[in-house]
Amino acid sequence: MTQPLLDDHPRLVLATGNPGKCAEFQALFNGLHIELVAQSEYAVPECPEPHRTFVENALAKARHASAHAALPALADDSGLCVQALAGEPGVWSARYAQPTEGSAAERATQDALNNAKLLRELNGCADRRAHFVCVLAAVRRPDDPEPLIAHGWLHGRIARRLEGTGGFGYDPLFALTEGGGTLAQLRPEDKNRISHRARAAGQMAQLLQAFWGVQRRSGGDSMQA
Ligand code: IMP
Repeated sequence: MTQPLLDDHPRLVLATGNPGKCAEFQALFNGLHIELVAQSEYAVPECPEPHRTFVENALAKARHASAHAALPALADDSGLCVQALAGEPGVWSARYAQPTEGSAAERATQDALNNAKLLRELNGCADRRAHFVCVLAAVRRPDDPEPLIAHGWLHGRIARRLEGTGGFGYDPLFALTEGGGTLAQLRPEDKNRISHRARAAGQMAQLLQAFWGVQRRSGGDSMQA
């Protein structure tokens, strides 16, 4: 089937209900002629994430958002993979310690429980290697047979205790080097420059230009795009 042509400044629905993430992706794709609109603007209902891989979850979210908003869509799925735990918590990163839903306060509690569980699981373990991964999926329509898929990774070590108050999730336990400071001790702009999301966005920006014909903004200033 012929793909619909994208116009000069395509609007993509961003499959996230998290306003912080929407702003972060807007900044990351600022160098491209695209407009990202949060899926809440189209009343897209929450999409289940039952899959075993980041790619399948990201793609499911992109197809779901595209179907509900009748627009091209961009979705992400990310998490922490720990070498000594055979890649866990992986796709279950958000709900590692217990099922999660709800308000920002409940999510903060969830983060604390997740970090406590991770420290317990790695108690006495010398191998602290871990990485964050972010997968981005973009579709032109819900049944797009050629979705664009981009990956970004950030490699580091799981610290032996919580350090720092910034960031979210596993940031207070994720050090870039053995014995080094954690992501929670970095300035947000410094973390955002090197993050798995920034790296995936950089790769996706290349794909959007190469395969969808998206144009760069002249003088556009984004972190990666
Ligand atoms: P999401 O797919 O971006 O919502 O991420 C799922 C989970 O992975 C989050 O709830 C966090 O626990 C963890 N995670 C993803 N990215 C980061 C990060 O940059 N720092 C800390 N934790 C993260």
